Amino acid sequence: MTLTSKLRAGIASAAIALFAAPALADDVKIVASFSILGDMVEQVAGDFADVTTIVGPDADAHVYSPSVADARAVAEADIIFVNGMGFETWSDTLIAESGTEASVHVATVGITPVLVDDETDPHAWNSLLNGVIYVQNITAVLSEAVPAHATDFAANAEAYIAELTALDAQTREKLGALPAGKSTVVTAHDAFGYLADAYGLNFVAPIGIDTEAEPSAQELAALIEGLKEQGASALFVENITSPALVQQISEETGLKIGGRLFSDALSERGGPATSYLAMFQHNLGAIVTALEAAGES
Ligand code: ZN
Repeated sequence: MTLTSKLRAGIASAAIALFAAPALADDVKIVASFSILGDMVEQVAGDFADVTTIVGPDADAHVYSPSVADARAVAEADIIFVNGMGFETWSDTLIAESGTEASVHVATVGITPVLVDDETDPHAWNSLLNGVIYVQNITAVLSEAVPAHATDFAANAEAYIAELTALDAQTREKLGALPAGKSTVVTAHDAFGYLADAYGLNFVAPIGIDTEAEPSAQELAALIEGLKEQGASALFVENITSPALVQQISEETGLKIGGRLFSDALSERGGPATSYLAMFQHNLGAIVTALEAAGES
């Protein structure tokens, strides 16, 4: 086959594919605002939808500048999922300006908000039982939108929820076995209010629940003084924020950095946190290892 005839054959088969695939249920186009939510949607949708994620791995979904490709994906979407709770500061504008006719759904509906310093913590996925509520919400939306595959979505959701609740039980067991009084964990920003609330840990961070505002020199100095006085058991950098503040805290308090937590985004392919489940397992393993070491020292 010459190149020209290959191209012709390609164009012909593309044309056939176009005719052969009218707007089937399988073509439902879903947009998820960030990588963790995108993974949950894929777990439920399976092969029956086309899922596009706006804010990708290792990226910060609090502050994000959507691209032209993002606007196109939103414009072409049938269904859009956002986290809500003030997490995506950019999504309302993106959705409004895209002219999309998609239905927009908040995946955290029904979750009891946790307050950190009087503000709603939007990182609700950091409790696995909240993860179950996300999955139930996603399943309800997909089943209504594509009733022909409702049983597939229900089966996918049931298997996935079984994995989430099993990991939740394992998390309670592992964290419950830690030495008493070794539960203070320092991270860069306040992303773990739900983990603290669900599993009895205490998180401290120099940056608040969104990543826009850096602490003042006085605030940072007060935090470091507090850590020197009261101690902390573990210190972590995050995949979505600069490690500089955490490195400074490490230098000034003598606390060793216990690794990296994935707070608001999955890892790139090949990394340790390419799915919500893998992310939670990675974070749990890192926290347990650091707190066990603190218990021995
Ligand atoms: Zn965050």
